[in-house]
Amino acid sequence: MAKSFASQADLAPKRQKLDRLGEGVYCLTAEGDPNTGIIIGEDGVMVIDARATPVLARELMAELAKITDKPVKYVVLTHYHAVRVMGASAYNAPHVIASLGTLELIKERGQQDFQSEVQRFPRLFQNVETVPGLTWPNLVFDRELRLFMGKREIRLQHIGRGHTSGDTIVWLPEEKILFSGDLVEEGTTPYCGDAYLGEWPATLERLAAFAPEKLVPGRGDALLNADAASRAIDATQGFLREMRHHVEAGVKAGQGLRQVFDATTRALEPRYGRWVIFEHCQPFNISRCFDEVSGIRHPRIWTAERDLEMWKILQG
Ligand SMILES: [Zn+2]
Repeated sequence: MAKSFASQADLAPKRQKLDRLGEGVYCLTAEGDPNTGIIIGEDGVMVIDARATPVLARELMAELAKITDKPVKYVVLTHYHAVRVMGASAYNAPHVIASLGTLELIKERGQQDFQSEVQRFPRLFQNVETVPGLTWPNLVFDRELRLFMGKREIRLQHIGRGHTSGDTIVWLPEEKILFSGDLVEEGTTPYCGDAYLGEWPATLERLAAFAPEKLVPGRGDALLNADAASRAIDATQGFLREMRHHVEAGVKAGQGLRQVFDATTRALEPRYGRWVIFEHCQPFNISRCFDEVSGIRHPRIWTAERDLEMWKILQG
């Protein structure tokens, strides 16, 4: 039987959880839905990833109101994916921060990505009509931005390509807390449709060198000690290397996309099949990986139409 497209059959609400990671540092996780980080400073709040719609953003603000009455001053976009950025307008934050790589991707493919993600994630994009348009950063950095919220130092860094070409991590050097965006996932399949799979593992080596004591992944539960953080980084890296290895072997043997998809999925399923959104991600992941090992360096743009055509070929 044909599998329903992407996350179109995933309609049951997820349980949300607000974890306290340190003094004024929190994250909202939801069983594999995109996570949001919160840092409360002396005169304002930083929100890391805005959520999919203003309605979901307002849910987060209701949680926030239980712990602080300070206004949101900064919204940080760890990358351009619609499911994390389209709620931004609800915060009325004076500063929306992203890397230069992310700004370029929003310009190049933000609109197509938005339309494609709405079709992929109907549950997260309920009330999509409340999205006023694309989210544009108004504060952009190349490699690093250091911010001080009172005495607390916050470092925003682009440490290399991986999940996208503009990934940003947020690092609290004093507390050794790291917000990784989708560079690291916990119990959730890494989405690789726009990825640089040859570079991502090395980016994760640089990320591991921070030696975080707590880590908020892009999806899945927060990792609350150094061992758990390190295991999540290793597991993400292992998945990426294994997938690329199988795809590369298939391409070298002259196999077509469908054959490579079937063989790679069979090989990965025993170990990773239970990770959240595995079936959703694998067609996109293997399509991109197939392109990359075939010499297509820059990920091709996904559109709502291309999504469905690909799905019909691989999962139909
Ligand atoms: Zn993403």
